[in-house]
Amino acid sequence: MPDDLSYWDWRDALLMHPEGRAKGGEPCVKCSEPVPANAHWKHRDRHVCGTRCNSNLGRQINRLIKNTGDLDLHGRELGAPAKMTNPRTSGPRIFRTINGQEPPFEWEGFGVRQGDLVERYGVLVGYALLSRATEEAWPNWWPDHVLIAMELRSRQQFICGATADWDLTRLQIGYFGPQGEPRNEATFTSGGQLLRWHWERIRDVTPDGQEFNWEALVAAPADSPYRGDWWSPARTALSEKRKRETSTKSRHARRVRLEDAVVERFDPEEIYERDGWVCQLCLRPVDRTLAWPHPESKSLDHVLPLVAGGNHCRANTQLAHWLCNVRKGARTT
Ligand SMILES: [Zn+2]
Ligand SMILES: [Zn+2]
Repeated sequence: MPDDLSYWDWRDALLMHPEGRAKGGEPCVKCSEPVPANAHWKHRDRHVCGTRCNSNLGRQINRLIKNTGDLDLHGRELGAPAKMTNPRTSGPRIFRTINGQEPPFEWEGFGVRQGDLVERYGVLVGYALLSRATEEAWPNWWPDHVLIAMELRSRQQFICGATADWDLTRLQIGYFGPQGEPRNEATFTSGGQLLRWHWERIRDVTPDGQEFNWEALVAAPADSPYRGDWWSPARTALSEKRKRETSTKSRHARRVRLEDAVVERFDPEEIYERDGWVCQLCLRPVDRTLAWPHPESKSLDHVLPLVAGGNHCRANTQLAHWLCNVRKGARTT
């Protein structure tokens, strides 16, 4: 794993099922129902059948991260990047379009909060955070919290999953009309104007060099030059500096990977048997009946990681507890 992962990227990597993205029909890791082939790609990455099982898996992983010091494994830290504090300092405010600047938008921190308005090319959107705990008519496939974005003139809505701290979870629930009726399209008319919903993401960096994203659901005229993705000047400068620093190193690594990569086809069980069901990282036994995401379940570790030019072959793989494997990965750059 690269060393500049955000906490959420790291957590996504942790939640990735060892067999990779489900094609459809694989058993859900929480309830054993088949994972639908058309499920959200994040659900297919985690082998969960839907939102409810995804939330359960997320809670299980949160407990694991919190309690990892108590696990009977290495007793080492998991290597999670620190959850950074929201760099936002202002209270409720209007985030405006600033013509003639690059990027031409105001933003601050991770995203919107209660009382904020976001104005993009003259279109105003307001926000509310709803919780399962306080709403009665809550569809059972919705997550515990949702952020509702409402275009103020037409009352059209765009809803997605959120945390209790207003951070978006990237789980898109959908577009809704003024009476809450589901709509299939991101476009709608308001005051005779054709508008479009966007998932806005602005990549920024704190003065002390921590990268973060502002994310907001916004509406803009369909014919405006709006693009949902922007990099702040500071973030662009940081990224370019990093590219210059690592380009020589990574060009070399890529060449090594391309010229020498060996991919053998084999059944991981063969490696587990070869290693006698003993984790090669902590040298403790692996219980073959435990299934991912149990921290002590079996996993295939690449001795020299693939990102460092290692091969996917019998000679470069070994059995490891899943958590031992995760810990090793977090230390490797
Ligand atoms: Zn399930
Ligand atoms: Zn181990």
